[in-house]
Amino acid sequence: MIKSFYAGMDLDAPCGRCKGETRHQVLTITDGVPEKLICGNCRSVHKYRAEKPKAEPKARPTASAKHTLQAQRPVQSLATMFQRVLAEEQGGASARPYSPATRFDEGQWMDHTSFGLGKVQKRLGKKVDVLFRDGLKTLISG
Ligand SMILES: [Zn+2]
Repeated sequence: MIKSFYAGMDLDAPCGRCKGETRHQVLTITDGVPEKLICGNCRSVHKYRAEKPKAEPKARPTASAKHTLQAQRPVQSLATMFQRVLAEEQGGASARPYSPATRFDEGQWMDHTSFGLGKVQKRLGKKVDVLFRDGLKTLISG
C-alpha cells in the first residue's frame, strides 16, 4: 500500500497529550514521511510516530510475560531435554575436563570450559561429536 503524504494534510495519529488517536495536521515531511504534526485537539506539536501505535508492551506485564514465554519455548525445550539426559545418566559425576589431548569415547561425558557439560555421541578419528546444551559440536579429542 503506497500512501503519499504532504504538508498540510489531515492525518489520524496518536497524540501523547490527548492519550489517544486524534486528527492532526502534517507540518513537515521528511523522506516522504510526516515528521512533525500538530494535534487538532490540543494544538500541541509533536513528532509523528510511524508504525508504532500504542508502543507500550512493558506497561502490561501479563501480556509481555506470556509473549516472552512463547518466544523462548523452543530454546527451553532443548535445554530441558538436555537436562533430563544429564540427570538420567548422571553425566555430571563422571565428566572429565575437556582438553584436545584427552581422549574421549562414545558415551563419555566432558566438562567444557565454554560449552559446559556434554556427552560424546560419536568418535571419528581424532574428532568427537559432542552434545551440549547448545547443540552438537565437533571437537578434537586424543
Ligand atoms: Zn492532542
